[in-house]
Amino acid sequence: MPASVPGRAASILSILALALLAAACARPEAPPAPAEAIAIADDPHSFARPEEVRVTHLALDLTVDFEARTLSGRASLTVDNPAGARELVLDTRGLEIAAVTLGDGSAAAFALGDEIAGQEFLGRPLTIAIEPDAEVVHVDYATRPGAAALQWLDPAQTAGGERPFLYTQSQPILARTWVPCQDSPGVRMTYEATVRVPEGLIAVMSAENPTAEQAGGVYRFSMPQPVPSYLLALAVGDLGFEPLGAASGVYAEPATLPAAAWELADTPQMIDAAERLYGPYRWGRYDLLVLPPSFPFGGMENPRLTFATPTILAGDRSLVALVAHELAHSWSGNLVTNANWNDFWLNEGFTTYFEGRIMEALYGEEYAEMLAALALGELRATIEEMGADAPDTRLHLDLAGRDPDEGMNDVAYEKGRFFLRTLERAVGRERWDAFLADYFDRFAFQTMTSAAFLDHLRRELLTPEEAERIGLERWVYEPGLPDNLVAPTSERFAAVDAERQAWLDGGAAAELPTAAWTTHEWLRFLRGLPDSLPPARLAELDQAFRLTASGNAEIQAAWFRLAVAAGYRPAYPALEEFLIRVGRRKFLAPLYGALAATPEGKAWALGVYERARPGYHAVSRGTIDEILGWEEGAETRASA
Ligand SMILES: [Zn+2]
Repeated sequence: MPASVPGRAASILSILALALLAAACARPEAPPAPAEAIAIADDPHSFARPEEVRVTHLALDLTVDFEARTLSGRASLTVDNPAGARELVLDTRGLEIAAVTLGDGSAAAFALGDEIAGQEFLGRPLTIAIEPDAEVVHVDYATRPGAAALQWLDPAQTAGGERPFLYTQSQPILARTWVPCQDSPGVRMTYEATVRVPEGLIAVMSAENPTAEQAGGVYRFSMPQPVPSYLLALAVGDLGFEPLGAASGVYAEPATLPAAAWELADTPQMIDAAERLYGPYRWGRYDLLVLPPSFPFGGMENPRLTFATPTILAGDRSLVALVAHELAHSWSGNLVTNANWNDFWLNEGFTTYFEGRIMEALYGEEYAEMLAALALGELRATIEEMGADAPDTRLHLDLAGRDPDEGMNDVAYEKGRFFLRTLERAVGRERWDAFLADYFDRFAFQTMTSAAFLDHLRRELLTPEEAERIGLERWVYEPGLPDNLVAPTSERFAAVDAERQAWLDGGAAAELPTAAWTTHEWLRFLRGLPDSLPPARLAELDQAFRLTASGNAEIQAAWFRLAVAAGYRPAYPALEEFLIRVGRRKFLAPLYGALAATPEGKAWALGVYERARPGYHAVSRGTIDEILGWEEGAETRASA
C-alpha cells in the first residue's frame, strides 16, 4: 500500500520549480518536466523517483578526515533512464554539495529542496538537471561533523586507546547523511569505492575487503552484488584480522581480536547450517567486524561484513545467536528486501525465524527453544507496554510521516518470527522449508511487500482452508498477538521458574542450583523477578552470585534494571560505568527508562547521561534524549 508524506507533493513542486529555473539558465533547450514526473514513489521515506531514473551503480572516492570529522570527495552515480527523464532526484541530509557534473564533464544545474517541517529526518531532495542520455552523474560533496550515520570516536573511546575510530550505521534512512543516493530499500545498486585514511588505520566496507593495511592509506573496494543504500557501510580504525574458516573471519581492534575470534569460532558451522537450510550463501565471504562498545545496535547485517557490538563477547559463547541473526540476513533482508520500511518485518521477522533454525541446527532444539521463550517474554512485555490495540503492534506498519526508526522494536522481529513458526507448524517443516528455500531463490536481489508475500503464500504453500485457519490477515494487518501462536516450551525454564518461586517464598539465595545455569537461565530468573523486591533481597543475590560485577552485558542489563526498580544503590557505580561505556540502545533504553520513573532516578540519570552522551551514536542519543527529555544545549539541568 503506497503511502505518501503529507505536504511532500507541494514541497517537491517548489523544488522542481527551482531546479527547472536553474536548469533553464544553464540549458535553455531543456523542456519543462512532464506532469507525471511528480508522481510520489512508493517509499514514504525517500524523495527519489526511481520509477523514472534509477541509480544502478555508485562509485565513491572519499577522504576520511578525523580532525575535521568529515568525509569529502565524489559520488559518481550510474543511472538507468529508459524514458529519458530530465531530472534525477537524490536523498541527502546535511550534505555540503560543492558541484554536480555529468559524465561528459559539463556542469549540471542542481537545487537542494527544503526540509519538510516535522520530518527533518528525511533531509532534503537534491534535484539534478540531467540530459536524457546522461549515464553518469558526479556529485562533489562533504559530510558535516554531526552527520547522523557517522560515529567518530576519540582514541579514549576505543579498546586500544591510541587511535581514533569511525564507523557508519546507514539503516534505516541514514545513508543519505553520508552519501547522496536514492535512499530507499527498493533501489539496488552495485558499488565501488576508494577511501583515503590516515596512515596506520585500516578501512573496511560492506564489500570485498583487504585483510591488511594498505600502503599510503588508500583502500579500494568493490561490491559486485546490487544492494540497497541502507547496506552501505564503512569503518576505519586500528584493526586486525583473524580467519575463522576458509571464507569467514573477524576484524577487531588488536586488543579485542583474540577474545572476538574465540567467541565467534562457530561462525563457519553457522554458515554451513544456513546453507543446508535455505540454499547457497551468495555473497562470497562472510566476515564480522567487532566494533567499540558505542555501537548502537547488537549487529548490523552489512553484506560480507556484519558489524557487531562487543557486548556479545561474554567469554562463554552464550550470546552468539546474534551472529546467527546477522548471517541469516544474508538471505532475508539483504537478498529478499522489504520494499519500504512499513514492511520491516519481512526483513527482521524472517531473519529472527531463520536465526532460531540456525541455533537449533548447531546447539539443539532445547537450547533454541529456550532462546525463543526468552524472546516471547520480551515480545509480550513490549506489546503490553505499547497496548494490545496499538497500531505499531501490527506487522505491516504505517510509518509515513514518522522516522522509520520508530518502527524498529520487538514486534517486527518477534511477532514476525512467531508468525512464521505458526506457518511452519500448520504445514509441517518439510513443506515449509521447501517453500522458504524457493522463496529466497525466486526473489533473490528483489524487493517484497506484505501483500505480495501473502499472495505468494496463498499461491505456493497454503490451501484456502489452511490460510483461513492460520488467519494471515490477522497476523499481518491487525494489532496484538494472535492466540494461535505456537509458544515455545522449555523444561529448563520451568525448573528455573520453580526455583525463583521458592526463593521468592523465602528460600536462601545460596540454595539456588545455579551451577549449570547458562546466560539464558539467568535471564529467565532475573526477568521474572518482581520490581518490588526490597534492596536487602537483591543484596542477598548479589552476595551469592556477584551479579553487579558480572561481565555479561545481557545479565548486567537485566540486573541493573532490577537494581534501579528496587533502589539497590550498591549496583549504581557499576551501572554508571556500564551506561558510559556501552552505547547499545537495547540496553540503554530500558535502563534510562527505569531511572526516569522517579525524580531522584531521573536526576541521577541526567548526570550520567551528560557524560555518556558524547560517546553514543546518534541513533541511541535520539532515543535517550526523548526518554530523559534532553534538549541540546541545556546541559546544566543535572545540577539544578
Ligand atoms: Zn536483524
